[in-house]
Amino acid sequence: MSKTLFAGARIWDASGAAPFEGDVLVEGQRIRAVSRARGQIAAAGCQVIDAQGLCLMPGMVEGHAHLSFEAVTATEDLIAPPPEEHTLLTARVAKVLLDHGFTSAWGASEAKLRLGVAVRNEVDAGRLPGPRIRAGSLEITVTGGMGDESKLHNPRKGPSIIVDGPEEMRKAVRLCCREGCDNIKLDVSGDPFYPNTPAHSTPMSFEEIRMAVDTAHSYGRKVNAHTRSIAGTQACLRAGVDVLYHCEYSDEATLDLFEEARDRVFVAPTVSLFHTIANNEAAGNGLSAEIGGYMGIGALLEASAKTHTELRKRGIRHVIGGDYGFAWSPNGTNARDLGFFVQYYGYTPAEALGCATRNGGDLMTQVSGDKLGEIREGYLADLLLVDGDPLANFSHLLDPARLVVIMKDGQMYKNQSGAVQRRAAA
Ligand SMILES: [Zn+2]
Repeated sequence: MSKTLFAGARIWDASGAAPFEGDVLVEGQRIRAVSRARGQIAAAGCQVIDAQGLCLMPGMVEGHAHLSFEAVTATEDLIAPPPEEHTLLTARVAKVLLDHGFTSAWGASEAKLRLGVAVRNEVDAGRLPGPRIRAGSLEITVTGGMGDESKLHNPRKGPSIIVDGPEEMRKAVRLCCREGCDNIKLDVSGDPFYPNTPAHSTPMSFEEIRMAVDTAHSYGRKVNAHTRSIAGTQACLRAGVDVLYHCEYSDEATLDLFEEARDRVFVAPTVSLFHTIANNEAAGNGLSAEIGGYMGIGALLEASAKTHTELRKRGIRHVIGGDYGFAWSPNGTNARDLGFFVQYYGYTPAEALGCATRNGGDLMTQVSGDKLGEIREGYLADLLLVDGDPLANFSHLLDPARLVVIMKDGQMYKNQSGAVQRRAAA
């Protein structure tokens, strides 16, 4: 069994404890020992990484991944690519995420049913580089809901499965399960990009959501929901949805429902998309802050800050990431969410990093049973060795050149530690 010893690192273990100097031994795919002092773990038979002056932390988890999104500016970019090209694109994005320190990706949804499945299988087999992937399904929506791109005069199909009624939902979810999807995605509420079903509307019914949850769970799969409206979020919580996305609007009753479901659900606010639009970062792609204002993006950002600050206080497990893959917010920049969590939701830097690691690890763990997301004995060895202090400056995590070592499942994906030492000596 291969053994790697990270010697003399500054260790941030994601347990909530302060960073400490010590050694970490990895054996096979797991963390075998963590020492709070240097030189206490025998180095015999180990590949030794001199980690002095570097920070060792768990790999990050993207909680709402769209692996099939690359430089998207409109839904047409999700519909137009042929499956062959789209599969290669998805494989490229998976590598980009791993290169940027994301050792796990929880698939939200993909633009075609089997894109996440095919790439997950290749990554699991060790034939393609990428994070540990839970494959997202196509979006499942209802007639006229978000993702229904057709019109009476134009049958153009959107990147979604359209169902009406619980029986059609059962069939759609079974189809996604049969084709290998791990996570089933429901478009429960409306969205500012769909004027006929705005964010506060709720086209999908409770009965449809409930059927999706029962069916997915009977296959051992999980359910993700796009929900911005109060009625949608309440229906998701009551129906047993596992992961809720966006959730901008809330009231006291909704917050109480969240609190009751605290040990069961995970929430990704996915604030990046609206933040970037409101800050004019999408202006070059025809989506200026002014246009965003007309779409009600500012109000949604305000509601997001209010709701998720409250959810933080109530101990709901937030995960970072989500809706990266647009032309102005590419996959690879997902760790920007760390700063947004501090800015909008009042997290400390260490707590935000905990959302990216410990909470994300808990999310991945609930299906695999193998614990990850912390530096702890017995946990899967997903590790980043960072040239810099991520707690002092998140930008260190956004710069792949500073990710000196990237280890996934105990396997060395990238090791530049020798180069760093040479640089230090020069
Ligand atoms: Zn999304």
